[in-house]
Amino acid sequence: RRKWSRVVGVLKELEEGCSTSIGRLKQVVDAMAVEMHAGLASEGGSKLKMLLTFVDNLPDGNEKGTYYALHLGGTNFRVLRVQLGGENSLILGHEVDRQPIPQHLMTSTSEGLFDFIVSKLEQFVEREGNGSMSMLDKRRELGFTFSFPVKQTSVSSGILIKWTKGFSIEDMIGKDVSECLQQAIRKRGLDMRVAALVNDTVGTLALGHYHDADTVAAVIIGTGTNACYVERTDSIIKCQGLLTKSGGMVVNMEWGNFWSTHLPRTSYDIDLDSDSPNPNDQGFEKMISGMYLGDIVRRVMLRMSKESDIFGDATSRLSVPFILKTPLMAAMHEDDSPDLKDVSRILKETLEISDVPLKVRKLIVRICDVVTRRAARLAAAGIVGILKKIGRDGSGGIMSGRTKSGETSSRKRRTVVAIEGGLYTSYSLFREYLNEAVAEILGEEMAPYVVLKVSEDGSGIGAALLAASHSYPS
Ligand code: ADP
Repeated sequence: RRKWSRVVGVLKELEEGCSTSIGRLKQVVDAMAVEMHAGLASEGGSKLKMLLTFVDNLPDGNEKGTYYALHLGGTNFRVLRVQLGGENSLILGHEVDRQPIPQHLMTSTSEGLFDFIVSKLEQFVEREGNGSMSMLDKRRELGFTFSFPVKQTSVSSGILIKWTKGFSIEDMIGKDVSECLQQAIRKRGLDMRVAALVNDTVGTLALGHYHDADTVAAVIIGTGTNACYVERTDSIIKCQGLLTKSGGMVVNMEWGNFWSTHLPRTSYDIDLDSDSPNPNDQGFEKMISGMYLGDIVRRVMLRMSKESDIFGDATSRLSVPFILKTPLMAAMHEDDSPDLKDVSRILKETLEISDVPLKVRKLIVRICDVVTRRAARLAAAGIVGILKKIGRDGSGGIMSGRTKSGETSSRKRRTVVAIEGGLYTSYSLFREYLNEAVAEILGEEMAPYVVLKVSEDGSGIGAALLAASHSYPS
């Protein structure tokens, strides 16, 4: 009995530590907007890098032709071909080839990685078929989606700042990512040109905008998390004199690295961070994204097993880092059978813990709920933070003194945020918590003007669209 009360105590403490009251979320919203401002004011002015992308106009539906894209992100690697009809037609068709990235290549050399990528690209191009002879003698334009922090030097080139999400290829840091790819392409004798180097969020934004011109920001919540949005060039203070035709530029926030003392952090987060290969880094991402949520739950369960005997003797697997993957955690969370039989099965198969009483299974579902709800609500606060920065949250921006006269009319403009990533698209409770929190923070009056739209395969297709809008006229 005493032991059970200790377990309940651990849960209570977790719930308190993960609290995301509306008041706290609004502090996170403000902190996000302020940090964005600081990151735009000076290089290194914030943990938010606020990277320039050199993308100053987004696809609008008039792009035409066949374009390719490569997507190197978290767990998968994708090659795509997109057919565009122009004149506001929808995308005529697209094909995707998905491949897991062999684990050893994630920590090998840049040559090893890019040779692998280009060999897959070549196979894909060779399967071109469908008799379009004109393609044979035409140079192919390629968009490259590279979902790691890059300091862009133009729309089609940029230098890798650091790796995230378990990748670690030391010799690539500081190198031009497009050049690495272009070299491997040349080596294979392929006639392709890297026309656009884009962050995955920028690809998502591009596809979102192609379909809906009110799209101003994009968020990815998958293995990792990040966001980008369209900023006015005159707000990008760290780059004085930046001029674009549209007066705007897409900024890649690298929001996974956002940090604020208002974030509800627990001892589990602190331990997860110090055990990680990148301590003090990607703090927001570590509370939100799919790579980490399962492991936070595992840490809570481990603590409970140490405080009590709720899992019997069979707890050794619980000490294995990352053994509980987020999709399995989600499956336990969403188990709607009255006796929680999926929870039983997953505990047995993954953690080798059997005969767990119903009361304990319910407790585990509760842990999953607390961890996921916090993650979803923090991501929601981040989104509203972006809207606040660009004056689309109904509040009049972060510095009301600076808002211009057009502000009242833009207050009630329809605003679309494109969203992509497995955590959002495949985990319904996460999605519901996020949507609900965005509406809650915005309030009844403003919420109907903000639309969150899933942009399926956007990060890849969007890169092809950007390759199209930045290709040489043929
Ligand atoms: P990427 O690895 O490029 O981010 P995705 O956007 O598809 O790819 O995200 C995959 C991640 O989404 C997985 O690592 C996992 O954490 C999470 N995920 C996928 N499916 C589910 C699911 N059913 N429930 C919860 N999380 C999921």
